[in-house]
This record gives sequence, C-alpha cells and structure tokens, in this order.
Amino acid sequence: MPAPILIVGQGLAGTVLAWTFEQAGIDFEIADAGHAGAASRVGAGIINPITGQRIVKSRGVDALLPRALVVYRTMETQWGMPLVRPMRVRRLFKDERERRVLAEKKASGELAPYAGAADADGFWIESAARIDTAALITEARRRWLAAGRLREERVDPVAALARHDLVILCTGAEDCGGLAWGDAACERAVGEILTLAVDGLAPDVLLNRGHWVLPTEPRRAKAGATYVRGGADSTAARAALRPTGDARRELERSAADLLAGRTFTVAAQEIGVRVASADRFPLAGRNPREPRLGIFNALGSKGALLAPWLAHQWLNHLTEGVPFSAEVDAARFRKPGAV
Ligand SMILES: Cc1cc2nc3c(=O)[nH]c(=O)nc-3n(C[C@H](O)[C@H](O)[C@H](O)COP(=O)(O)OP(=O)(O)OC[C@H]3O[C@@H](n4cnc5c(N)ncnc54)[C@H](O)[C@@H]3O)c2cc1C
Repeated sequence: MPAPILIVGQGLAGTVLAWTFEQAGIDFEIADAGHAGAASRVGAGIINPITGQRIVKSRGVDALLPRALVVYRTMETQWGMPLVRPMRVRRLFKDERERRVLAEKKASGELAPYAGAADADGFWIESAARIDTAALITEARRRWLAAGRLREERVDPVAALARHDLVILCTGAEDCGGLAWGDAACERAVGEILTLAVDGLAPDVLLNRGHWVLPTEPRRAKAGATYVRGGADSTAARAALRPTGDARRELERSAADLLAGRTFTVAAQEIGVRVASADRFPLAGRNPREPRLGIFNALGSKGALLAPWLAHQWLNHLTEGVPFSAEVDAARFRKPGAV
C-alpha cells in the first residue's frame, strides 16, 4: 500500500523534510528524478550569520542557526559521517562605506553575537558553518533506496494524488509552486562555482569580499558564487546550462584577490540554479485550492539555514494543526484563477 505522504524531490528540502518525518514516525515515500540538476549538489552549504553589502544579520538567524545545527549534527551522529564544519568568516571591506557601516552597527550591538574583532582590512564573523549538502543528499538517498522508501523517477505531483493523501513538492528549480501559486511567485538565478587546487589555507576560515573562497578538503577550496537572474526559467533553458567563461574569469579574479598572491589552479567548474520567492522568503504550506498538494521551496541562497525550520513547520502543521507562519505560507502568493 502506498504511504499516505509522498515527498517529490530529494534535494536538501526533500531530504530534511523526509528525515524530520522519519524522526517523528510519520510514514512517507519519496521520489526523485536524479540529482543531476539539483542545486543541493552544487551549492556550497555556507551558513553565514552576517551577509550582504549592507552588512546585516541573516533574517531570523539567532533562532534558525541553533535549530539547523542540531538537525545536521544529529544526522552526522546517526549516519556516522561528517556533515558540519564550524567556520569563521574573514570578511574584507570593499570600501570606506563598509568600514563605516561595520563600525556603526558594531557600536549599536546590532550584529551581536556574530561580529568579532575588526581591523583596518576587515572583520571576523563568528559562528558560521559549512554543511556538506552534496554528501548529505547522497547519503540519504543511499539509505532510503536501501530501505525501499525512495523511488528514482520523475513524478507528476497532481497524478500522484490518486495514490497519496498528501503530496509535498520539494522540487527546487524544476517546479516552483505549481498550480495555485504559479511560477510568478518565484525567480530563478543561475550560479557558478569553481573548485580550486590550492595549498596552505586555514581549513576553518571562509574568505569573503563579495565572492568567497571556502576551504573544503586538504589542498582544495571552492570559489563562488556568481548570481545571474533569469536564463533558467524553462526546462529547455535549464537543460542547456553549461559553465561559462565569463563566470570562470569573474571567479578567478575574485579568488586571486582573496588569496592575496597564493597560487591556485582551477580543477572544476559547476553550475546550478537557485530559486527565490518574490519577497525573498521561502515557501511552505498547502495549495489553497487543493490542500492535498503542499510545497517546500524557494530556499534562495540560504537553504542550509532555512530547511530545518521549514521542515519543523511542516511537522507542527501535520501533528498539531499549527498554521504555517505568515512569512513563509505560500498562500501569500495565491494566483487568482489557478487550480
Ligand atoms: C551556485 C550556488 C551556490 C549556493 N550556495 C549556497 C550556500 O553557500 N549556502 C546555502 O545555504 N545555499 C546555497 N545555495 C542554495 C542551495 O543550494 C539551495 O537553497 C538548496 O540546495 C535548494 O534545495 P532544494 O531541495 O529546494 O532543490 P534541489 O537541490 O534543486 O532539489 C530538487 C530535487 O527535486 C527533484 N525533482 C524536481 N522535480 C521532480 C519531479 N517532478 N519528480 C521527481 N523529482 C523531481 C530534482 O531532480 C532534484 O533532485 C546555492 C545554490 C547555488 C546554485
């Protein structure tokens, strides 16, 4: 007999959701068409508590970061593999304005407890982390395949309602929102990342000035990420995406700047698609017209931080009937006239 809940998509969203259900003893099946186009395979998994040109705390980070770390640490323990690396960020100033903004915000306490020591060139951000999302989804897939919980196939979510009580779309860039919300609620942005061969980097320090350099393993680092809106809205456009010379040159330039004279070579280049909602907050909840269709998407560039929180909202919703919080409830983008 089919499980009452089908999760469609096993990137970071589907994996964290399915794992959360598993911990709570909620029966589910999961289907995934393959990780080839999954953002979770390409993304760097960085959780940085202070980001952006305006030097701001990531929204909700004080509550979301401890929750996220508990989830990934528990997976690590259960699966006996490393997934979380605590990091410090060496954020280098771009200009005098950034220097001034940091001084003002530090003085007001706005960036506490994450903004650390500052000097003329930059400042330290404490309590960052790197989650190995590629390893996480690969290991979860192996386990659920072995347990007969995961099917490797593309699923039509609406047709799947004939066999399941609830179908939750965790489909990333492939299908952002489906019927009631429509793609109008989502924007896609293409991102590219280089893998560098480079010696002598401190393993727990992320270098950041606009772009970043992230040490990943001995003599390897990732350099990223570009952000180009559009160009990935159709299935055909996504299938045709290939790493570009422009992105490689842009990332090589910023890596050379961040590595301050250290020599490196480029070992690989990857491309992926991020999905963000129109208001830059994620999407969770039920389709207003077909409540048996649910969604968990639009994690933007902060999937590692946000996924455990959204999974918790789904759990509370199913077990206690708690409504989704207004800031994530996909109903805010309801499209008149849609299914
Ligand atoms: C270049 C780049 C850098 C990034 N860096 C970071 C970072 O440093 N930190 C961070 O937190 N986030 C980062 N992100 C964002 C992060 O990767 C995403 O937020 C997250 O991985 C999205 O996960 P997801 O599960 O929603 O989507 P995906 O990982 O894309 O997974 C969707 C899955 O659904 C499957 N699927 C889709 N439709 C169907 C269907 N009909 N039937 C069956 N299966 C289906 C797909 O095959 C895929 O496996 C980055 C992203 C990119 C592209």
